[in-house]
Amino acid sequence: MEANWQQSLQQFFGFDGLRPGQQPVVEAILDGRSAAAIFPTGSGKSLCYQLPALMLPHLTLVISPLLALMQDQVQFLKSKGIAAATIDSSQSRDETQEVMNGVRSGTIKILMVSVERLKNERFRQFISQVPISLLVVDEAHCISEWGHNFRPDYLKLPDYCREFDVEQVLLLTATATQAVIDDMQKHFAIASDDVVTTGFHRPNLRLLVQPTVESERTQKCARWLNHLAEKSAQKQQDFAAIVYVTLQNTAEHVAEALARQLSFPVRAYHAGLPAEQRDQIQRQFMSGEIPVIVATIAFGMGVDKSNIRQVIHYDLPKSVENYSQEIGRAGRDGKPSDCVMLADQSGLTVLENFVYGDAPELSGIEQVIQTIQQQLQTDHQGSAQWEVLMTPLSSATNIRMLPLKTLLVNLEMQAVLTSQYSYFAEYRYKLQGSEAELLGHFDPQRQQFLKTLLNTSKQGRSWYTLDTEKLEQALANGGDAGSQSTAEPPRVRALKALEFCQERGWLQLESKQMTDVYRVDANKLATPQLATNLHQHFLDKQQNEIQRIHKMLDLFRQPQCVSRRLAHYFGENMGHDCGICSVCRGQFQSWPEASADASLAGIDLAAMVAPLNQAVQQQFGVLPSVELQTRFLCGIHVPWFTKVKARSLAGFGKLEQVPYEVVKAQLV
Ligand SMILES: [Zn+2]
Repeated sequence: MEANWQQSLQQFFGFDGLRPGQQPVVEAILDGRSAAAIFPTGSGKSLCYQLPALMLPHLTLVISPLLALMQDQVQFLKSKGIAAATIDSSQSRDETQEVMNGVRSGTIKILMVSVERLKNERFRQFISQVPISLLVVDEAHCISEWGHNFRPDYLKLPDYCREFDVEQVLLLTATATQAVIDDMQKHFAIASDDVVTTGFHRPNLRLLVQPTVESERTQKCARWLNHLAEKSAQKQQDFAAIVYVTLQNTAEHVAEALARQLSFPVRAYHAGLPAEQRDQIQRQFMSGEIPVIVATIAFGMGVDKSNIRQVIHYDLPKSVENYSQEIGRAGRDGKPSDCVMLADQSGLTVLENFVYGDAPELSGIEQVIQTIQQQLQTDHQGSAQWEVLMTPLSSATNIRMLPLKTLLVNLEMQAVLTSQYSYFAEYRYKLQGSEAELLGHFDPQRQQFLKTLLNTSKQGRSWYTLDTEKLEQALANGGDAGSQSTAEPPRVRALKALEFCQERGWLQLESKQMTDVYRVDANKLATPQLATNLHQHFLDKQQNEIQRIHKMLDLFRQPQCVSRRLAHYFGENMGHDCGICSVCRGQFQSWPEASADASLAGIDLAAMVAPLNQAVQQQFGVLPSVELQTRFLCGIHVPWFTKVKARSLAGFGKLEQVPYEVVKAQLV
C-alpha cells in the first residue's frame, strides 16, 4: 500500500512526502480503520482524506460546515485533476442532477455536503443507495457538547453512518481539548492510537498581550497597523491584517475610526452585511485591495491567505479555542507575524451575558415535554410517534433554536426520543407545460395515477401543492385501478413520480417546512424528574461555558509564557518557553482588578420592566418570569421578544453592562 500512496501523492499533489502527522492518519484509513486528525489550521488536514479518497474503492463523503470552504476545496481538487463536487443550495437543478449522476456512476470520488443536507429525506434516499468508503467530518469538534462550537445536528452523524452503512470515518479538527477528543472517540469508536495530534505551537507567531482601556484602544490599534504598513512599504511587500471585535456595531465604528486615521483602506465585515457585500469585501481582502478588515467572528472560516501579518483582538475572544483559531490565520507562510491582544476585561460582562441567555427556562422545558405528550400519535406499527416543526415549537416555548435542538438531542440521548426521519411537510410543483402534455409522457396506467395526483393537489395560480391525505383517499376510492399490487405508500409513490418528472424537466419541484419525526418512549417521557434533570444539564453547561471564559482570561492574565500556556491547554507540552511572547520579552502587564459589580442602587427596576410586563401580559396572558425580565434588561434575545417587539420597548438592553446574576438577584 505504501508505494501506492507515495505514487499518488507525487502524481496528483506533487509532494515527495507527507508532513508529520499526515502519514499515520493516511495509513490508518488505508488499513481500514477510523481515525481522527487534530492538526492546527494550515497544516494539511485536508490531504489526510484527499489522498486516501483516490485509493479507496467507493465514494468519500465529506461533511463540511461552510459553503465557501467546500467550494474552495472542490476547486482545489479539480485543479489537481481529482473528480470532486458539492451539492449545495447555490446550484441549479441541472447542476445538482449532474453531480448526482456522477456520484451514482462512481466517476465522482469526493462529494462534499453540509450536515443540514443529511436531514433532507430526498438526499438521504439518494445517498443510501451509493456505496461509501469513507465519511469525513470536518470541524469535528462540533460533535461535542463540551467543545466551543457544539452543533446538535453533528450528534446525529453516528446514526447516519449506520443508516448509510459507513464503516470508516475520519474526523478533522484544529482545536480539541481532551474532553472533546473523548467525545469524538466515543461517538465514532476510534482507537486511541488512531487519534493523531500534532503540535499546536506555531513558532512564527508572536503572542503579545497589551490590555488597553477602551478609550485608547482604537488609537493603539492604528499605531500597530501603521507600523506594519511602513515596514511592509520599506520591504516593498503586501501586507494584510484582521482586527477582531465582538459586536457588529463595534466592527462598524472601529472601521470608521481607523479609516480616518490610516492612509490605506479599512473595511468592516460582519454577519449583518448583505451576502453580496460580504463576498466582495472578502475578495478584495484576498486580492490585497483592502489590507485591513475589522471583523466579528463571522470572518475567517475559509479565509486562507498566507501573508496575514497581524491579528489584533480589539475585544476578548469567546474562548481559548476561538482565540487559537483566530490567531491561527496569521503567518500561514511561516514568516514572523504578530497577534496582539488589546482587550481588557471590560468586555467580560457582555461575553458572560451571552452565555446566560442560552439556557432554556425550566417552564419552557416542561412545556416541550407537555407538547410532546399532547401531540403523540400512533404509527402503523402501534408505537408512539411525534412530528415536530421546529420554528413554531421554538416560539411557543420561548426557547431559542440552538438550545431547543440541543434539548431534543438530549432527549434522544436519554432514549426518550428516537429520531426516525425528516420530511418536508409541504411539496409544491409547477408544470413546465400543460397537464395534457405531462400526462402524454406516460402509459395509461401511470397516467391514471398522475391524474389523481394532479386532481387532489391544491391548485394555485401556477403552483400545485401536494395533498397526501386527499391523494390517499382518492386512491382508496378506486382512483388507482390496476396498480393495487404496489406496496409503497401513496406519499412515497407521489414523491417518486414528482422527482421523476423533475429530473426530465417536466416540472419544477420545491420542498418546504422540514418536519422531524421521532419515536417516543411514553414511559420515559413521563419520568417525574425529567424536566428538572434536563434543566440542570443546561445549568451545568452554562457553568462550563462561564469557566471557559475565565480560562481564556487566565491565559492572558498570568505572568507565564503565553504560547506555552496555549499549547498546554490543548494537551501539548512544549517543554520550553517560546522566547518571543510579551511575557518572555519581559513586557508582562498586570491586569487591572475587576471593577466592583456595577451598582443598581437608586435604579427602579420595577419601572424598567413595566413595558415588558404589559406587552407580555397582553400577548400571552401571563406575567413574564424573573428570568425573562432579566434577559430583557440585559438585552438578551429570546423568541417571545420578537412577538412583543421588545427591542422597541423602553428598558430593553438598558443593563447590558451589568452582570446577569446581579440583575436577576435584584428582581427576585
Ligand atoms: Zn513566551
